[in-house]
Parts: sequence; structure tokens; C-alpha cells
Amino acid sequence: MKVKIDTSRCVGCGLCAETLPQLFVMGAFHAQVRRRTLTPQEEPLVAQIAEDCPSRSILFEEDEVLSLARGSASDRNNEADHNENEG
Ligand code: SF4
Repeated sequence: MKVKIDTSRCVGCGLCAETLPQLFVMGAFHAQVRRRTLTPQEEPLVAQIAEDCPSRSILFEEDEVLSLARGSASDRNNEADHNENEG
């Protein structure tokens, strides 16, 4: 899972950087992420920080690899359906 900050909404309170300084750092007006990809151990803590963020500026994205894997499985199912109809 990946994390990013919507800098147009961040109010610069510093909560995220104080709680997890290895991942978030304060800029002049808003927070920035040092590293976008989260470890599985970090995910619950970052989810809690995102919930506590007063402006709800911390956003998540699924890893692209997972989406691609799901797409491949779907393609294989469609192929199987197609072959059944040919018989
Ligand atoms: S907790 Fe939210 S509002 Fe506060 S600095 Fe971090 S991203 Fe910005």
C-alpha cells in the first residue's frame, strides 16, 4: 500500500510528523512523505494517523502490482468461458 498527502488540504498541524517521523516530515506549510510505500507493519499506525489527521489529508493507494494480478486472473476466466463455447 502507498501513502500520499493532499497538500491542498493539509493544515500543517504536525501530528503525522510527530507520530511517525521516519515516514512524514514537515515542510514550510504542510507535511510531506519521505517514502510512499508502507511496510505491512506500518499500515495500521498510518491508518490511525490518517483517521486522526484534522483535515483528512492522508490518502492511500493500492499497489499497482495487486491490480495487475487481479486483471490477469479475470482474463484467464474469460478465456476458459470462451473455450467452453467452442466445443
Ligand atoms: S496530520 Fe494531516 S493536517 Fe496535520 S500535518 Fe499531517 S497531513 Fe497535515
